[in-house]
Amino acid sequence: MTVLFKNAKVFDGSGRAPFDGEVLVSGNRIVAVSDTASDSHDSGAVEVIDCGQRTLMPGMVESHAHLSWPSSIGRVMNTMSLPPEEHLLVTARNARITLDAGFTSAFSAGAHGRRFEIALRDEIDGGWTPGPRLRASTLEIAPSHDQAGTPGVGSGQRDLQAFRAQIRAIAESGVDSIKFQLSGDEAFAAGGSQVVNYTDSEVAVIAEEARRAGVMLACHAQAAESIKLAVTHGFRILYHCIHTDSEAMDLLEANKDQLFVAPAVGMLWARTYEGEEFGITAEVARRMGAPLGIERMQEVIPEMHKRGIRVLPGGDYGFPYCPIGRNARDLEHFVNLFGYTPTEALVAATKLGGELMGKGELIGQIRPGYLADLLVVNGDPATNERVLQEHHNLTHIMKDGAFHKRPSPT
Ligand SMILES: [Zn+2]
Repeated sequence: MTVLFKNAKVFDGSGRAPFDGEVLVSGNRIVAVSDTASDSHDSGAVEVIDCGQRTLMPGMVESHAHLSWPSSIGRVMNTMSLPPEEHLLVTARNARITLDAGFTSAFSAGAHGRRFEIALRDEIDGGWTPGPRLRASTLEIAPSHDQAGTPGVGSGQRDLQAFRAQIRAIAESGVDSIKFQLSGDEAFAAGGSQVVNYTDSEVAVIAEEARRAGVMLACHAQAAESIKLAVTHGFRILYHCIHTDSEAMDLLEANKDQLFVAPAVGMLWARTYEGEEFGITAEVARRMGAPLGIERMQEVIPEMHKRGIRVLPGGDYGFPYCPIGRNARDLEHFVNLFGYTPTEALVAATKLGGELMGKGELIGQIRPGYLADLLVVNGDPATNERVLQEHHNLTHIMKDGAFHKRPSPT
């Protein structure tokens, strides 16, 4: 299929201000981008979409996706666990909701089912079920257990060979990424955010085996020492990073071309201010460290931004107070809490997100040769990122050259 998007304000993901232009898509690729209207493209185009001066932008990337966290817009559930059959179906639905929200790619931060995301990714890639391009993960790993409660390496003697075997087995199951809880969290136990779960030699072995198996490493890292471990051993994405100290900050900066940080502020914000009806009173939120986490992020994230560290929106959506589908709200938090311009937040959600996926030359920008993951948006998100939160503003959603959403013919 060949599609010409004409009469658009093109936000190409690079940070360049939106320009009047046209974008030609053939098959699943963008084949031409012009910043002047040219009739030459019209001739061969099978279909012409007149954007009517609306914004044409790359699909967004969710950097901290939990497609199997149950709650989504329109279906909030005040639980995290479901019977496996229901849970898998809910997870598949959540993939569709994520795409409905304009997120054409998602990097998983952990799943509630061992193979949920592997199966889901393959169904999505096969075109059998709608959803974002997915970097699939599995149960999050902590030293003494996985999230299913299965005893893991580290309970009892912490045998380095067992770490290797665990990584190999997970890699063979087909995941793209494995998430370790390198630190605890106040929400797990009081004082948890300062607890480091692994030693340097353990993380070294984990990293070596992951590299060998070709899987990416992601981590929950709040304590400064856990951040340093992750950077030193080549983790791809570090979540939260609230207790980044000056040494950790310098390390992050020195390795900024190899790593990404995603604070996942959306969930903390909702937990602090919008959790009441789900039992998260102000006191509970405080005990879970949510307001403190936001405070700390407001100190460290602007500094990371200043130093050119790639910080990404992606907000841990899927809890009842921050359901999946609300993902674009993270961009507003970046603007309001961290001092990003709307354009900078948008670049982080597109171009930098593509780089996180490991496909910076294919995803996250509107350039010839890139995959045709595109949104047509009412309004100008490069100056007002909030327009992306209203799904009705996304008039067209194209993924891989195919329309997931478009206005029905009148
Ligand atoms: Zn998470």
